[in-house]
Amino acid sequence: MSVQKRFAMAVDTRRCVGCNACVIACKTENALPEGGFRDWVVQEVHGTFPALTLEIRSERCNHCSRTPCVASCPTGASHVADGGVVAVNRAKCTGCKACMASCPYGARWVTPAGTVDKCTFCLHRTRRGLDPACVSTCPTRSLTFGDRSDPVSAVAVLLRTRRHHVVDEAAGTEPNVFFLT
Ligand code: SF4
Ligand code: SF4
Ligand code: SF4
Repeated sequence: MSVQKRFAMAVDTRRCVGCNACVIACKTENALPEGGFRDWVVQEVHGTFPALTLEIRSERCNHCSRTPCVASCPTGASHVADGGVVAVNRAKCTGCKACMASCPYGARWVTPAGTVDKCTFCLHRTRRGLDPACVSTCPTRSLTFGDRSDPVSAVAVLLRTRRHHVVDEAAGTEPNVFFLT
């Protein structure tokens, strides 16, 4: 029986060095305008001195399983595409920003053309069997992309074998970007 694909990304916070190569790769691959970013790097200090740890996370749209951004879009521009990837159809986007207001993660922004943009999980590459640009570029191999409904995929194995968390679980959107710790 075939199972529906569920694309996901695992971000290994133990490997990420915060070099921003993923951010530059995304900007170049997707020809993003000045000031526009689909991914970004967050650094957080945890613990109490002297027992401090630094968590570095490459973040992007979480391609959530519950999608307030899609539910709030009045035109159907925001939609769920192959493998659960959350996408925006520019031709239908009026730039009303309802999706931006409903995303708890600040993953969306407005382009100079007035339409909303965000991470696409590089569907244009993954449909051709390539990894997303950020994943291919990361020099420390911190990023793993794949179908988590396939138990032998690298991302499914990581999620089975490594401790992980999502950003702001309390927001209740069921993210598909996981941070390995
Ligand atoms: Fe971290 Fe890799 Fe991005 Fe560099 S390219 S910031 S190591 S995820
Ligand atoms: Fe929507 Fe935001 Fe979740 Fe991305 S992170 S799917 S924009 S709610
Ligand atoms: Fe950018 Fe593609 Fe990575 Fe998303 S998956 S952050 S669109 S390079």
